[in-house]
Amino acid sequence: MLRFKKNDLYVEQVRLSDIAKKYGTSAYIYSKNKIVNNFENYKKALGAKDGFICFACKTNSNGTILKLLSKLGAGADTTSGGEIYRCLSAGFSSSKIVYAGVGKTTEEIEYALKSKIFMFNVESFEELDAIDKIASKIKVKAKISFRINPYVNSSTHSYLATGKKGAKFGIPYENAVEAYSVAKRKKNIVIVGIHSHIGSQILDIGSFRLVAQKIKKIVDAVEKNGIKLEYINCGGGLGISYEEGQEAPSPKQLMVELFRIFDKDKKFIFEPGRSIIGNAGYLLTKVIYRKISGGKNFLIVDAGMNDLIRPTLYEAHHEIVPVKKTNAKKVKTDVVGPICESGDFMGKDRMLPLINQGEYLLVKCVGAYGAAMSSEYNSRPLIPEILVDGCTIKLIRKRACNRDLLANEI
Ligand SMILES: *Cc1c(COP(=O)(O)O)cnc(C)c1O
Repeated sequence: MLRFKKNDLYVEQVRLSDIAKKYGTSAYIYSKNKIVNNFENYKKALGAKDGFICFACKTNSNGTILKLLSKLGAGADTTSGGEIYRCLSAGFSSSKIVYAGVGKTTEEIEYALKSKIFMFNVESFEELDAIDKIASKIKVKAKISFRINPYVNSSTHSYLATGKKGAKFGIPYENAVEAYSVAKRKKNIVIVGIHSHIGSQILDIGSFRLVAQKIKKIVDAVEKNGIKLEYINCGGGLGISYEEGQEAPSPKQLMVELFRIFDKDKKFIFEPGRSIIGNAGYLLTKVIYRKISGGKNFLIVDAGMNDLIRPTLYEAHHEIVPVKKTNAKKVKTDVVGPICESGDFMGKDRMLPLINQGEYLLVKCVGAYGAAMSSEYNSRPLIPEILVDGCTIKLIRKRACNRDLLANEI
């Protein structure tokens, strides 16, 4: 969805420099058609199998994007009461909302039950007790799966791995079968399935296969005890290609592997986040100053780690390109933000043309965990989000102003 026409870079049919002129920088920009394609790939891969695709809305919780996905038939994977609220506001059917998280509070559980969400992915014995008690108090039944920690080391950044031994997530593998027996005795709990999510930006199908095989063992043992598990929830985590040469498996490849392992009558839930929205988002930023220091070139841009924290938090690589073709000589450059932290950078040691002050750069693949993780650190108002659809530009979150910084202070 990104290409040059003559000397200018376009997202779909819109010239990026035009967006910069109209809405200022820095700004998040999304390609609607890329989001639609990514989601349709999942839908097609699921095919006639019973189940649904729940968008992991922590990756990007903008209401317009949520609304778009809910209209396409997506369910939602949520991790807090706030996310359930956002998803319901965006039109998701409560019967397609699943809710994971190690620390669900009493208020959140009650809210989720009253909202009639599809199911809880339960992550501890104490949480199971809490859900049972609250459900009893408000006289409803709670549908649950257990999130199982399968003890699989996926090859991703350590902060993104959630399914290895010692992680805080899920029920420990050795307690999984017992958990279902305990749940069966709870009056207000209805068991519907099993869940696992081993982490994010996983590029090897082998990790998913291994998890599925381990989960299948639990399913067999639980069903031998007379407890039927209708839904297999495979979580999210499918990686995307952040740099040239990085190959990401397709949803189809993932599902072919998983469907092979489980019985034909099983229903499936997938919870993709990054692989739906990641490569559909861009961060447009302007060069404020240039300098050379300690023998290094710096491009100082108007986007900071408060807008995009992934480079410093996860050592994430995002491609950075000028939005205008140039013959300027390429030099090794650090692209850094204005914030008072040495961790404030978009990219280091990049070969970039020596562009001028006032010119624009585009940081790619920031649709997931970009705007959603942004903050006002250094008292920088949140930046706008813009959705491009063909040749139309829609502002879907306006730029905040200095006054907004004080909004909740007393
Ligand atoms: C974050 C998360 C996801 C989405 O992960 P991606 O790597 O963005 O696809 C899915 N399920 C759960 C439980 C999560 O916490």
